[in-house]
Amino acid sequence: MRSIAKLDLQYAHRFYGFKGEAQYLHGHTGNLPIEVEDSINMGVNMVFPCNEIQKTAWDVLRNFDHALILREDDPLLPAILKVYEEQGIRNGAPTNKMMGPAFKTDLATAYPECRLVVTKETMTVEGMIKIVYDLLKDKMNIAKITFTSGVNAATQEYPVNKTIERCPLCGIALDENGVCPKCGHKKP
Ligand SMILES: [Zn+2]
Ligand SMILES: [Zn+2]
Repeated sequence: MRSIAKLDLQYAHRFYGFKGEAQYLHGHTGNLPIEVEDSINMGVNMVFPCNEIQKTAWDVLRNFDHALILREDDPLLPAILKVYEEQGIRNGAPTNKMMGPAFKTDLATAYPECRLVVTKETMTVEGMIKIVYDLLKDKMNIAKITFTSGVNAATQEYPVNKTIERCPLCGIALDENGVCPKCGHKKP
């Protein structure tokens, strides 16, 4: 069975070099359901608590929310950084509190202090799914990611062949010692 958590992301981007309207800077609200697959944990009668999936995912994905997402070779990138620098907001601002931990993968690098994500590939809905899977695949059993942004949508399914041991009281994953990080329950 699957538990499905839904996240919303508001972001600005453009498709650098694309011959269409999307070559201009514009914004979207993206909708991102993440489907986690496992057996049903009989203790809580869930696969996984959706709010916990959301919390884990949001911890990294908040870097994309109200952020500018640009490809690494986009000439807008140095131009924007120059303006941020001159404004004194390149390395952070007191009002920028929505920072997740900075991350760097092969596909994307987050600069939370100036709400910027730099990507290797064009950030299409397909590109975003690749980035999200890469960031979260080791944290949960992701079976499917769908990303919808305006009229664009993409979806990808992933094989799941392992089960994660979960707390029978909280439903969240037990740590490597078989202890629940939330309530301290220990696997008998
Ligand atoms: Zn767009
Ligand atoms: Zn617990």
